[in-house]
Amino acid sequence: MQKINKKGVKRYQAIFFDFGGTLMDAESDNVTHLQMMKDIIQKYNLPACPEDLVDKYNSFLFTKEMTLLDGDPEDESFIPLGESTKKAFAGILSQYNIHPSLEDYRWFKEIYFENHQKYIKLFPETWEIIRYLRNHHRPLHLGIISDIDNDYMEFQFNILGISSLFDSITTSEEVQSYKPEAKIFQVALNKAGCRGEKSIMVGDSYKRDIAGGKNVGMTTIWINKFNLDNPDTEKADFIVIHLKDILPILDELIK
Ligand SMILES: [Mg+2]
Repeated sequence: MQKINKKGVKRYQAIFFDFGGTLMDAESDNVTHLQMMKDIIQKYNLPACPEDLVDKYNSFLFTKEMTLLDGDPEDESFIPLGESTKKAFAGILSQYNIHPSLEDYRWFKEIYFENHQKYIKLFPETWEIIRYLRNHHRPLHLGIISDIDNDYMEFQFNILGISSLFDSITTSEEVQSYKPEAKIFQVALNKAGCRGEKSIMVGDSYKRDIAGGKNVGMTTIWINKFNLDNPDTEKADFIVIHLKDILPILDELIK
């Protein structure tokens, strides 16, 4: 692989990370959802156990790898994640013949943010990796490309203290489309001022991060933490199991 062109300009100018399940510990998302379900059970006095309810809630929103379910391919309108979580909340209540009022939705949004504030955590190595890249590869543009809403991103990233570590953050709500559509990657690349071929995409969803990134020319590192036996891996330039495994690859690519 050619790392440096003839003029000695570094080949790579930007590294982009997915957030959920890549920098943020997906297990902490599970804990958060479990706590939200406990709040819902208590408020509505539901005869349910939190584990069953969280399965139901997640089934409205996510695959088992906690990436977003695909939307209706016929429907080209963009639905923010906040709308989908409200629908999931209404979906679980409807099983108990409860139809949420505007006040119920307002309460749900409140406990959604409260529990995310309390329980969402980054992987311990996230700090290590970002600091390392900052210290050793300073001119690189570091970005996040995430299928999240703007209000959630601002709230959560401030609490985690990571906003200032990144040069750009691109959300699906901002561009009105979800990964793997090219638009979100292109907007992120514009922010970095570089082409896909000059950038690296790191993510845990093969379909969204890796296929999406490769389709705009990025070099891709798939964190296959569930060790999925995916028959189709051709869009991944590198496959690792843990986030920390990306450092030697990045060092090699960027040097
Ligand atoms: Mg992810």
